[in-house]
Amino acid sequence: MKHVSIPIPDSTSLWADATSAVAKAADPAHRAETVVQLRRQLDRERKARIEAEAIAERGLRELYESQVRLALLQRITDYANQSNDFASVLDLALKEICSHLGWDFGNSYIITEDRSAVTACDTWYAANPDRLFDFVEASRGMRFLPGEGLPGRVLRDEHPHWIDSFPDETWFCRRKEALACGLVSACAFPILIGDGVVAVLEFCSRKPMVDKDNILLTITQAGTQLARVVERERARAALLHDALHDAMTGLPNRVLLGERSRSAFERLPPDRIGLAVMVIDLDGFKAINDKYGHHAGDELLVAVAERFEAAIETLQGADIKANPAWHATLARVGGDEFVVLLDPLPDQLVPARLAAAMLEALREPVRHDGDRLSVGASIGIAHSEAHYEDVEQIRRDADLAMYEAKAGGRGGIVTFTEELGSEARNRMTLERELRDAIREHQFVLHYQPIFALDGNRELRGFEALIRWNHPERGLIEPGAFIPLAEASGLIVFIGDWVLRQACAAIARLHEGLRGSEPPFVSINIAPQQFLQPNFAQSVQRVLVETGVPPECLRLEVTEGVAIIDAERTRQVLEDVRASGVRTSLDDFGTGYSSLSYLQNLPFDTLKIDRSFIASMDDPKSRNIIRAILDLAENLNLSVVAEGIESPEQGAALVEMGCQFGQGYYLGMPLNESEAFALALPPAAIA
Ligand code: C2E
Ligand code: MG
Ligand code: MG
Repeated sequence: MKHVSIPIPDSTSLWADATSAVAKAADPAHRAETVVQLRRQLDRERKARIEAEAIAERGLRELYESQVRLALLQRITDYANQSNDFASVLDLALKEICSHLGWDFGNSYIITEDRSAVTACDTWYAANPDRLFDFVEASRGMRFLPGEGLPGRVLRDEHPHWIDSFPDETWFCRRKEALACGLVSACAFPILIGDGVVAVLEFCSRKPMVDKDNILLTITQAGTQLARVVERERARAALLHDALHDAMTGLPNRVLLGERSRSAFERLPPDRIGLAVMVIDLDGFKAINDKYGHHAGDELLVAVAERFEAAIETLQGADIKANPAWHATLARVGGDEFVVLLDPLPDQLVPARLAAAMLEALREPVRHDGDRLSVGASIGIAHSEAHYEDVEQIRRDADLAMYEAKAGGRGGIVTFTEELGSEARNRMTLERELRDAIREHQFVLHYQPIFALDGNRELRGFEALIRWNHPERGLIEPGAFIPLAEASGLIVFIGDWVLRQACAAIARLHEGLRGSEPPFVSINIAPQQFLQPNFAQSVQRVLVETGVPPECLRLEVTEGVAIIDAERTRQVLEDVRASGVRTSLDDFGTGYSSLSYLQNLPFDTLKIDRSFIASMDDPKSRNIIRAILDLAENLNLSVVAEGIESPEQGAALVEMGCQFGQGYYLGMPLNESEAFALALPPAAIA
């Protein structure tokens, strides 16, 4: 605790002071001076009190105003948080700011897509619209370049601008209307996000602007909230764009095409005329990807997309003069597949002309690292018609037309027709039935005997020939389903079944033979099956499983397999022959019959195609047969003549030195028991 000592005056001095004071008070001059002093003091105190009260009042007012401003900003913030729509947040902000600051007009301008200007959007607020009609009208649809007018100055400088008095500002282009509406002052503020101004807010008042600091604070904070909405909207738009566009080419993707196609179909008139779908598949793209790499492939796709877009634009430009407008959506829907949706389509000839223009656009090769990359395209077109129930059906038919174009060779354009559709539908039905047939084992093998032509025509073997035992249509010949099985890839399953079935049949035949020399069975192998990885091993496995000696099995392939991949064909043939299985080149003379194939591919037998035997009366055919026989002899190959239908043909072939033959004259293809009866001794048949 602190001790304070207070000095106590002595009683004599206290008495002296008191007497002197009484004497002064009695003096009139002194009394007047005291009154003056007291008055002054009172004045000072009163002033101090008034000042304190004013300060308190100002503080209260500022407090109130900042609370009102906070409430205003809170409302804008809340709304900005709830709404994803910039226009509606802008609308509310203009209304709130104008009412809070007592302004008569609030207007908004939005940046253009190329960021070169701001344009008035249809979001504005007027306290008394009627009295501001001329100014609102003058502001509607206005566009300001950087530096032009009040919004343009804000766009250029990225900071607020003020007009204290319209009469003085002759540069203000809407000055006449502003003055006519009694407006006196204006200000404009930027809404800024990372990359600059996205919008400008403009306010006008009939009174001079006061308290600019407060205005600046309020609008800057409101602007921050609005900018957040713009950023959110942009992020959402970017996401949406990514979800609806192909990242590589920037074209609409499958999803956006689907949306546009469906809504275009809904807009069609009752006769459903006025829409077309084009499917474009590049020819030779895979080869470029394989040879030059994916980077080159990607570059090529981007270039192709640009050329297609340019072709569309050019044709549209040329057509605008002559025809009613048409619109095209070009989409990339797969690796090298593009689709064009044409809607509306007043002129039915446009798709074919556009297709031709697109092919033309691919004529010039694309340059890549000094290489010139060339692709073509196959284009299918389908027009909407009354019978279509949805746009997917049109797309499917355009696809069919495209496949048809592809089948016809590179650079084709095919427009879908009903005839083409029914062919395709038949194919589809057949394919479905073929799948059922595989699942339900509806196939059977027939066996056609192969004889030695000389001497007493000994049976040497059989060719296994497949038939489809169709539940409704009966026995179907292979020519009616093997091509489709090959095209659909189903041949691999069928071929595997044939291999197992034939080997099981050989095993049964051997059981009946009991020691006599067994004939071989030849089976036909499709290129796809032959070129499958591990084909040779799977043949060997089946032989082991069925206990069939390899020399009793022969494999027949056509030149088609060597055309697909000569080197791999050679390798598989070698592997197959190394395991003891013999090989035949089937239908010789109908394909390329390239001598280099014959020289390089290890076959055991040549099968002369039956077309030469059928035309043997013609000396030219005979000469060809002779040449084939010479060739075979030189290459050490045995020869089987196919399709011998008459004794004369047989005799002529014997005379020419042909060793083996098969044909209706010698023996028809028969079911297993009938065919194998030819090989079995009479006792075994009985
Ligand atoms: P291919 O391998 O050349 O078989 C010979 C075809 O000629 C058989 O027709 C046979 O019935 C027929 N043929 C035999 N002799 C005569 C004759 O004297 N005159 C006439 N006009 N024709 C004769 P098929 O059975 O209709 O087989 C046709 C083709 O189907 C076969 O030709 C073969 O390429 C293919 N094929 C048959 N079975 C199979 C199989 O299991 N797998 C595969 N991938 N293809 C098979
Ligand atoms: Mg054959
Ligand atoms: Mg043949």
